Amino acid sequence: MPIDIHVHPWTKEFVSRNPPVLDACNFFGIKQADLPLTVKDLIEEMNKAGIEKSIVLGQGAQNTRNPAFRNYTIPNDLLRKMLRNFEDRLIPFAGVDPNSGEIALRELRHALKDLEFKGLKIHSSVNEVYPDDPRVNLLCELCQEFEVPVMFHTGTTALGNCDIKYSKPEYLDDVANDFPDLKIILAHFGWPWYEVAIAVALRHKNVFLDISGWKPRYLPETLIRYINGPLQGKVLFGTDYPMIRQTEWMHDFRSVSRKFKPQVVEKLLESNAKRLLKL
Ligand SMILES: [Zn+2]
Repeated sequence: MPIDIHVHPWTKEFVSRNPPVLDACNFFGIKQADLPLTVKDLIEEMNKAGIEKSIVLGQGAQNTRNPAFRNYTIPNDLLRKMLRNFEDRLIPFAGVDPNSGEIALRELRHALKDLEFKGLKIHSSVNEVYPDDPRVNLLCELCQEFEVPVMFHTGTTALGNCDIKYSKPEYLDDVANDFPDLKIILAHFGWPWYEVAIAVALRHKNVFLDISGWKPRYLPETLIRYINGPLQGKVLFGTDYPMIRQTEWMHDFRSVSRKFKPQVVEKLLESNAKRLLKL
């Protein structure tokens, strides 16, 4: 069954105190009333959509300069509590703020070692830190040591009030060169710089792309050609829940699934993620 690699633990209450996320809701046409109230809503959605497991992404912005993200942090201990009782279905990735330096490194070690988180998510545009920054290198080094992947937001973002220049996929070429054993996921395949993201994934054996944030019918034809070809072992299904619901995504995918080779569908939806996360 499918593994959704890109899920946000955003609730109606969280969104209401985060104006940049409200902008994202407007972009995706989501009414606040339809946002999840608790993590149970996510489990129900997964059951309806036939999703086996979801990767739930943490986020840290404690020392980020931009005041718009004052309320954006979801502490890793809190995230672990939120997912309690659903450990067999929900897999957490840590969120730390690279701006916090040594404190972020300690927090990441705590999340990976004590809380048994399975990866790290970094949103460079929120944190205003380039992916090849020395403070990010520290975190990559630890993930390489723990043999867990790092997911970087890449490309534009529906979040308001931040700069997309930090999220250009070309920076991940640099990171992949410096950390050849680190598994790196370029979220949202770097759109509009997706040809660069494709090139980076082709160049490095440990670089993967996720296709979250897009209804399948709108995925660029060039990307689909690579998914059917040389990148078929390196592309991961994700929704960006709650911005796109899993039931909606699956419904849309069924209408365009003929664009994908049958053996590629299974890799995209399930086995690539299972291999990457050792599930
Ligand atoms: Zn996202």
